[in-house]
Amino acid sequence: MKPRPRILVVEDEDAIAQGLVLNLQRKEYDVDLATDGAQALTRAEEENYDLILLDVRLPEVDGFEVCRRLRERNDFTPVVMLTARSQPDDIVFGLKVGADDYLNKPFDLAELLARIEVRLRRQTWGSATDDDSRDTPKLPTRVEFGDYWIDFSTFQAKTRSGVVELSHKELSVMRVFLSRPNQVVTRRELLTEVWELPNHPNTRVVDNVIVALRKSFEENSWRPQHIHSVRGVGYRFTP
Ligand code: CA
Repeated sequence: MKPRPRILVVEDEDAIAQGLVLNLQRKEYDVDLATDGAQALTRAEEENYDLILLDVRLPEVDGFEVCRRLRERNDFTPVVMLTARSQPDDIVFGLKVGADDYLNKPFDLAELLARIEVRLRRQTWGSATDDDSRDTPKLPTRVEFGDYWIDFSTFQAKTRSGVVELSHKELSVMRVFLSRPNQVVTRRELLTEVWELPNHPNTRVVDNVIVALRKSFEENSWRPQHIHSVRGVGYRFTP
């Protein structure tokens, strides 16, 4: 049986919080509630959530700061932010600190649930699922290419130096590559999909992960068999 997606709701207003929890539970999600930012950060560290629904206006540590700190510690759990319609800068700022999506408060419940579903589906495309949706690129848990394999459920990979644990970023980049074999993937796409920072000024972060991946999966980094450079654009992965 497929495990139920786990969602952390972060909301300080009791009525809204209870409404959200109830409606998400009705959709068969496993739901936890945090009522302030500090609590949210602790829960996110202790548990492995599939999605965080994060109110921006929170006491003490606000939603922006929560998201920023999550990303800072390499926690890339999808974050859907609840922003205030009266504060249009919220959206920009929210996306800047690494939120994946946002909804203005007061939100439409049906829309919120739909957005959450989309996010969760995207999230699971790299792990094995019996999800029968057709529009989602899917990868099995374990993918083999050349002499190597990657297991997305254990984060382990067979590399040139044996079986090692890949970093979250390395795994995420490989997911993108493996789901788009023989296609050009631009650095900007990687920044958007893996770092969630489409406007990151420095593509160096991408290059660094590529260097690491080539060390793992290429006998000769200068003549790669799998992770090819496409000059000035990005990369092309051949299995
Ligand atoms: Ca609030």
